[in-house]
Amino acid sequence: MTRLKYDPWVLALHLVDASGTRRVAMSTQVLSEILGEVHRVDSMRTVHVRGIDSDPGEIACLVDHGRMIALAGFPKRVLFTTGEGMLRQEVEEVFRAFTSIEFSLPKSLRNELLPFQKSDSTHREEEIERWLNTIEYYARVKHTWQLAAELTVRIPPGNLAIDLSDRLDRLAWRMSFRVQRTGGASAFNLEQQQAEYGMKLCEEPYRVMTFSACGQMTACSGDQRQRVYFGSLEEDTLRGIWESNSMESWRRNRTDGQCQGCPGLGTTLRRPSLIGVYDSVGEQRFHEYPQQQLRKIAEQTEQQSASRNSSSDFFRAPRKAS
Ligand code: SF4
Repeated sequence: MTRLKYDPWVLALHLVDASGTRRVAMSTQVLSEILGEVHRVDSMRTVHVRGIDSDPGEIACLVDHGRMIALAGFPKRVLFTTGEGMLRQEVEEVFRAFTSIEFSLPKSLRNELLPFQKSDSTHREEEIERWLNTIEYYARVKHTWQLAAELTVRIPPGNLAIDLSDRLDRLAWRMSFRVQRTGGASAFNLEQQQAEYGMKLCEEPYRVMTFSACGQMTACSGDQRQRVYFGSLEEDTLRGIWESNSMESWRRNRTDGQCQGCPGLGTTLRRPSLIGVYDSVGEQRFHEYPQQQLRKIAEQTEQQSASRNSSSDFFRAPRKAS
């Protein structure tokens, strides 16, 4: 097994990318090359599968790719989909290939649902119906076959032109999926971050190793513009790319480029006991600390301050006459 700098946990794969002039899907050969290298990394347990400006549901080999990832030994396999093409897949097999399926709104529908947005309401309703039907069908299959994979529907935070939670609550087999409000672009769910690390901070460049559909390592799994590429496994080793000077310098300077305007940044809420460490060593060194060590530091500092507080409470308590 290999250990890489920053102990990345998530392998993010763009199985399909239509953001350029043509639509590129990841080939079986590229996928097997990536899996062959990444499965040797000690800290990697999870694979996120998604598409850029196109949905993984649109590719015919989605289930085969999911099975390859499972056979490579990754215990957690999350499929992010907007639902397009998902009814053409063998639904039961999708549930078996992935351990979690997360539906979100297609970009066009998300825009149409913004409050005060002028849109053709008949067309919008048809699109919503299609989206809801897909979710309902997945919920039904999960329930009928008692499939263990999780089914989650992510909806945008804030007000929308319709009450989407209510529409989801009215679906049959509602008990088979959960609904989560989400706003950040970071791959980590904020509740998980706060529970496990006590901080909400974009960790993508340190924890997520992302490969584009054509097999190039890229900087972030989200669909932010100005995508940067650092090389493929044909050109260099996995460590060579991940720890390269160009990637390190991108990590240091990302706030001036790709990350500008992304909700993954600017929402930093750190566990107070870790602020001192973070501020004194800087972001990059901070992410080099093993997570267990960070948790220990936080717990020790919190215990110390709790005992200081209880003794100051004692002195603040009014003296009783003896
Ligand atoms: S802040 Fe940057 S690295 Fe983080 S999710 Fe946004 S674009 Fe990606």
